[in-house]
Amino acid sequence: MQTRFLGKTVLVTGASAGIGEAIAVRFAQEGGSVVVNYSRNDAGAADTAEQVRRVHEAGGFGDAKVLVQKADVADEAAVAAMFDEVLREWGRLDVMINNAGIQKPSPSHESASEDFDRILGVNLRGCYLCCRAAIKHFLSRDGGGVIVNNSSVHEIIPKPEYLPYSVSKGGMENLTKTLALEYADRGIRVNAVGPGAIVTPINMNWINDPVAKGVVESHIPMGRAGESAEIAAVFAFLASDEASYITGQTLFACGGLTLFPEFRTTWSS
Ligand code: NDP
Repeated sequence: MQTRFLGKTVLVTGASAGIGEAIAVRFAQEGGSVVVNYSRNDAGAADTAEQVRRVHEAGGFGDAKVLVQKADVADEAAVAAMFDEVLREWGRLDVMINNAGIQKPSPSHESASEDFDRILGVNLRGCYLCCRAAIKHFLSRDGGGVIVNNSSVHEIIPKPEYLPYSVSKGGMENLTKTLALEYADRGIRVNAVGPGAIVTPINMNWINDPVAKGVVESHIPMGRAGESAEIAAVFAFLASDEASYITGQTLFACGGLTLFPEFRTTWSS
């Protein structure tokens, strides 16, 4: 394992479970100090923080720290309070990871506007609020900074019956590109990761059901769902100096889902 984040501080939203938890652990494995953000799951956040501590200890990263921050990313005042606290405690943030996300299925014509607002609120407005606060901080000191957003293959692939989710990830593509362009000349890189189907609690409806999982995996060119650690590795790459010339991009980590799998066999000509 490399130590690309030794002496760096990383804020991960939605780190009480799933991909966010894996990202927190991955940055800790590379020596980073980690802020574990979440909104409801106190036990999950405490567990992630404990894993981070153990990883720091095992790696011999004596100076690395962990901070737990309960804040709903859709809530402007809560995000401001979280940044105040992080900067008061640590004085500096180097990497912002916007991972928090929710979804809820519904036929679009029957969907509730409150659900649309809430899903856009967490997935897109939350990302905007955290990007804004992080960039303001990056500009206030030397050294620039890095943002990596958790998008989805549904950034570019429509997701029927998940309209707000699909719209939020489509919006995230433009948010990522616009911020990347706006701040490219000031040492700030903004990128996104686009996961496919990953084994996390958000996919409870199929991860523990072998038949349902088989159906999901039959649609994936590589024939299997992804693991959170495989996605966390992509976040670590994009946040590291190895990606120093990459900005405004979404890197899809999806087992081939974005390759139009229906065209695997010749049927159109
Ligand atoms: P999980 O449901 O496992 O985890 C979601 C995390 O987000 C939890 O830690 C949750 O914590 C947190 N969260 C939810 N709402 C808020 C909020 N308002 N403020 C702060 N934190 C919040 O989901 P995944 O790990 O699967 O998903 C993480 C990201 O990855 C999402 O953006 C999702 O869209 C994206 N993604 C996931 C894929 C997958 O197949 N799993 C595929 C493509 C993209 P708490 O409950 O404590 O608030």
